[in-house]
Amino acid sequence: MQMPLSFAADARLPVILDRLSAAWPPREAQNADPLSQLVFMLVSADTPSAIALAAHQRMRLRYPRWSDLRDEAPEVLLNVLRGVERAVEKAVTLPRLLQAIEDRHGLLELDFLGGWSTAAAREWLEALPGVDSTISAATLNFSTLRRTILTLNNQTARAARRLGLVEKGAPMSALDRQVMDRVPADWQAREVSVLYGGLRKLTETYCHQGKPECGRCPLNDLCPSASAQSASIIRFPGITATKQPAASA
Ligand code: SF4
Repeated sequence: MQMPLSFAADARLPVILDRLSAAWPPREAQNADPLSQLVFMLVSADTPSAIALAAHQRMRLRYPRWSDLRDEAPEVLLNVLRGVERAVEKAVTLPRLLQAIEDRHGLLELDFLGGWSTAAAREWLEALPGVDSTISAATLNFSTLRRTILTLNNQTARAARRLGLVEKGAPMSALDRQVMDRVPADWQAREVSVLYGGLRKLTETYCHQGKPECGRCPLNDLCPSASAQSASIIRFPGITATKQPAASA
């Protein structure tokens, strides 16, 4: 049986947020409407940001109305999505996704979810074609819905695991909720989205899939997975933990 993380582990999260924000200052961007955010998340899944943004821009130029994208043939859409990871699958899924939203809601928009609880909205979204827990969380957090819910993709989940923000061996689908159980009670949507953005930068810069560069990481002294370079014990107010070798995700 997995033991829950200690209360002391929660105390690191404000410090982690401050350090990530100092290392990679968050950009204050205007939030998109939830359907635009949902479509962008599906396009950008597992794809480098620059490629995903370019593909999404091409797509919006070519299909200014959602009904245009809904009715597009996958083989044509595939060209618009060139460069995107799993483009073939996404070219099939995107029109189906929009059709499913219209079938279930009657309109091609998701603003109605603003009147729903976060749990109910998430359940509704995750029943749509191609929408997993990462995409539903991002839609609810990054869009104008601004729900206090954490997005974790495969990369940021790696950092969360190494930092000990989740239980060892927990399935991917449980990770965002486990981190959310440990964030300060006064955190709101902005803090949570800044945490995601910082973890994303962290994984791109230091917390690589292979060998992490723990010696350069701003969270080194807070991380139980940091490579044993300077000391065998991590000390942080209220936390004492034995360092473990860096674990792979
Ligand atoms: S100290 Fe190392 S394992 Fe921990 S978050 Fe930083 S890079 Fe990742």
